[in-house]
Amino acid sequence: MEYISTRGSALALDFEGVTLAGLASDGGLYLPREWPQFSEAEIADMAGLPYAELAARIMAPFVGDSLSEEELLSLCQQAYGRFAHDAVTPLVQLDERQWLLELFHGPTLAFKDVALQLLGLLFETFLSRRKSNLTIVGATSGDTGSAAIDAVAGREGVDIFMLHPNGRVSDVQRRQMTTVRAPNVHNIAIEGSFDDAQAMVKRMFSDESLTSRFHIGAVNSINWARLMAQVVYYFASALQLGAPHREVAFSVPTGNFGDVFAGYVAAKMGLPISQLIVATNVNDILHRALTDGDYSAGTVTPTAAPSMDIQVSSNFERLLFDCGGRDGSAMAEQMRGFETTKAMQLTNSQREGAAQLFTSARADADDMARAIRWAHDHSCQVIDPHTAIGLHAAQQADIATSTPIVTLATAHPAKFRDAVERAIGLRPDLPTRVGDLFAREEAYTELPGEYDTVRDFIAERATPAN
Ligand SMILES: *Cc1c(COP(=O)(O)O)cnc(C)c1O
Repeated sequence: MEYISTRGSALALDFEGVTLAGLASDGGLYLPREWPQFSEAEIADMAGLPYAELAARIMAPFVGDSLSEEELLSLCQQAYGRFAHDAVTPLVQLDERQWLLELFHGPTLAFKDVALQLLGLLFETFLSRRKSNLTIVGATSGDTGSAAIDAVAGREGVDIFMLHPNGRVSDVQRRQMTTVRAPNVHNIAIEGSFDDAQAMVKRMFSDESLTSRFHIGAVNSINWARLMAQVVYYFASALQLGAPHREVAFSVPTGNFGDVFAGYVAAKMGLPISQLIVATNVNDILHRALTDGDYSAGTVTPTAAPSMDIQVSSNFERLLFDCGGRDGSAMAEQMRGFETTKAMQLTNSQREGAAQLFTSARADADDMARAIRWAHDHSCQVIDPHTAIGLHAAQQADIATSTPIVTLATAHPAKFRDAVERAIGLRPDLPTRVGDLFAREEAYTELPGEYDTVRDFIAERATPAN
């Protein structure tokens, strides 16, 4: 399988190449040249497979020759063997038509583990083959950072520099990053928002003073391998609800548009998805873009669902490229305009293409608290604020009553205990797998939101490519 950039001018790469590259050299994001397809019979044949086997089957066409079938299956078994539930991503029923897909049974309690546990193993496998070193730079609104650090701490050939917005992640999220003591892990708290941190990271990929000495890699959802791994649980849950013979809708708490884009990929591969609901909090650029075509970034409002406190959603570019006729040079121009003005209007073909599958809804703090209470009172489920935003959107959706709606439960409620306690007066316990998080010592460096300072900090500490 070959991968091309959404901005048309970067070299096409194979799966190993895109996994190690992250962002394309022209500033675009990689996508497979074409979508692999499964027939109805092939999908029906996947029912009942253990998660790791299903994962290997769905990912095989994307991985191509970069790994043998046995290698891929073995990496999936290692990655998903670390989950605390045998089903890996269990499905829980809320009422006649509403379901929760629990994606938080990994080591750091959010769905990011599903992709990053595998990505850590892919990095190690490819780097040991090439005998080279990778410098991961990442920005996190909380959950990517902890999942990525857990996935690469102590691994050969990888250094990780993780930027988080100082004071804007929950205490559990911060401690899950800053209490991991491994020589290859570097936590940086920067002044500013997640978007500021993400903009710095993006700039590093095209900063020659770094790229000439270091091989810079990405763990954000700009990395294709992450999205690929997330496609699997759309299949896993839809199969349990009757696919390929029955349509399923999904409601996805959305920030950087990675998770919901994986749903789009599943639909492209043949999974019968009737609708993908993009659920946002008051940081609603995606809701505005999908309703009026107006993609313009405002300022970020901090909320109780910090992993969705995002105005610029990197992966939206992948959708616009795919829906807009895959025209790399037009996309490059549209994004250049956006980078200068922080605003753009979707083209008609982009709007129509997106509207075939996507709808959207926005939840404010009251909607969120109400959904947490509803899940608790009606179904005895304690859900986190991100999941609650998804559930609120699922409850508002205009979908045939015979179609089940699956809300992606993206984080464990204990990760956001304060917000859950405010809504239902109950403080969820941290699962035993996170251990003595509050007794361990933290280590991180506070830096101002200045690009040069952050870049120099990294350049002084990273290991050259080889
Ligand atoms: C990352 C995250 C999201 C947003 O996912 P995207 O792929 O960025 O859209 C939602 N909820 C939680 C808990 C997250 O960690």
